[in-house]
Amino acid sequence: MAGKGYRASNLAPSTTGPALTNLTVEQQAGAIRLFHCVFNFAGCQSTFAGKREWKRHVSIKHILQNYWRCPEGSCANLSPPSPSSPHIPTDPNGSIFNRKDLFIQHLKRMHAPNLEPLLLPQPTTGSGKKAATTKRAAAQKAAAWTAKILTLQETAMHTRCDLPVFMKCPVPQCTEVFCGVKAWDLRMEHVACHMILRETVVFGGIKDETLVEWASKEDVAIIKRAGDGQGWVLNAPDGMVHGDGDEKGED
Ligand SMILES: [Zn+2]
Ligand SMILES: [Zn+2]
Ligand SMILES: [Zn+2]
Repeated sequence: MAGKGYRASNLAPSTTGPALTNLTVEQQAGAIRLFHCVFNFAGCQSTFAGKREWKRHVSIKHILQNYWRCPEGSCANLSPPSPSSPHIPTDPNGSIFNRKDLFIQHLKRMHAPNLEPLLLPQPTTGSGKKAATTKRAAAQKAAAWTAKILTLQETAMHTRCDLPVFMKCPVPQCTEVFCGVKAWDLRMEHVACHMILRETVVFGGIKDETLVEWASKEDVAIIKRAGDGQGWVLNAPDGMVHGDGDEKGED
């Protein structure tokens, strides 16, 4: 308890910047990959130098709260949820995306209407009126496509699971708890401060039952019991969804 006052005053999010910028070059080098994955107890070895990358990794690689399933063309017939893990979308054919920007990229690459015939120079024998009509048709088609992309961003989004609404801090001496819809984000922010202060943070340990309970729930299914019944493993293998190719913080 003696250290509590010290810790509390040092855990304000605003200390994040100064805490790191005040470090010497050597200390900064040591600070590289300060953040270890929340699911390292289930086998994820990823570590990160920055808080943002760390949070992003956990959200996109493990929680996957939202994902986008392409309903266009032949994609509509692909990727039914696997019967063995109905809550985890599978991606045998690349029609499920963990990021909206990747989904939009896919739409543009794979499903954009072919405007080329309309935009080709019209035969000179045709009247100027005909050329103007085809040009207008191309413009209308392009505008309709842009509108459709905007609609699909919303309608193709699926929610895989809900975030926890009650969490505790995993650090043994810390009694901090987090409630409500922001519980997950608040805890991540808080735990990051412990890590910046080089305090030992053990995820998934005896002090972290709120994480284990939530992540192993049937409708969350981020982790599952290891084959021998001891410990935990990740439920979703890497590459479950069409990917986050921007994992600079990995390994
Ligand atoms: Zn991880
Ligand atoms: Zn598609
Ligand atoms: Zn804490």
